[in-house]
Amino acid sequence: MSRQVSYYNSREELPAFSRTLALAAMHLGCLGVIWVGWSAAAVSIAFALYVVRAFGLTAFYHRYFSHRAFKTSRPMHFIGGLLGCLALQKGPLWWAAHHREHHRSSDHDGDVHSPHVHSVLWAHMGWFLTPQNNEVRQWLIRDWLKFPELRWLDRSAPVIAVAYGLTLFATGEFLGRSFPETRASGAQLFVWGYFVSTVCLYHATYSVNSIAHLFGSRRYQTRDQSRNNWLVALLTLGEGWHNNHHHYPAAARQGFFWWEFDVTYYVLLLLERLGLVWGLRRVPQSVLQAAAPLSDLKQSVDREPISCVN
Ligand SMILES: [Zn+2]
Ligand SMILES: [Zn+2]
Repeated sequence: MSRQVSYYNSREELPAFSRTLALAAMHLGCLGVIWVGWSAAAVSIAFALYVVRAFGLTAFYHRYFSHRAFKTSRPMHFIGGLLGCLALQKGPLWWAAHHREHHRSSDHDGDVHSPHVHSVLWAHMGWFLTPQNNEVRQWLIRDWLKFPELRWLDRSAPVIAVAYGLTLFATGEFLGRSFPETRASGAQLFVWGYFVSTVCLYHATYSVNSIAHLFGSRRYQTRDQSRNNWLVALLTLGEGWHNNHHHYPAAARQGFFWWEFDVTYYVLLLLERLGLVWGLRRVPQSVLQAAAPLSDLKQSVDREPISCVN
């Protein structure tokens, strides 16, 4: 099998120019707030959608589909994949394949979004515009290709994006007509929920590839330039503890210590209690011991040793 095979249809053969235009349009769409104004309802929904879709990316696209850091049922992996699709960052298979590639060659040749191999702007928001980086490297995600619902999600990501926009508009219209005191409208919710919320989530996600490989502390001497960056962690529900993650990518937890807030992990613990996910892979005690004094270890909740896999 070719190492660059794509099972996508021709829609994915778009030139870089088209993708750049689409990305520019998403940013320009944010200017729509000048015309539609704001309401507490629209801003609150946009914020909630940011958080929920960020969880889809961090818990499912990243920790589940890319690293298999926990287990779940097929209905739940479909729901998680769908949540990730709503972030408008393509499908789970494309995302996971590129992320696995990143861990294979972090900050070395072959890493398509390293700010040390390419420019910072390229690492942040350039690499995914090229046709070659829109191909799915099937050999990296063979474990998921057997699931037709995941292949469907990947193929249907553009349709899901349109459905997401239409749903926002319809919800805004419903709110405006049924609850006029909210001062919401279809156009207003579309601008806030589709453009503003998504563009904020874009840059938060992109920051993991750019900022979290440039600025922050390095607890572990990994072979890349990954950093622990609290601001990126705050914006990405815990993904900013990126040096931790590069040192031990198999764990469901990325904030290794109690002060390293990791909202995604807290929600995963809750879902584990509810029986919706299970088998969360913990951070081995040896990894924690290599990082901090004993007094810090007492604060850590995870003690189950496991082997390290990507
Ligand atoms: Zn990285
Ligand atoms: Zn990762």
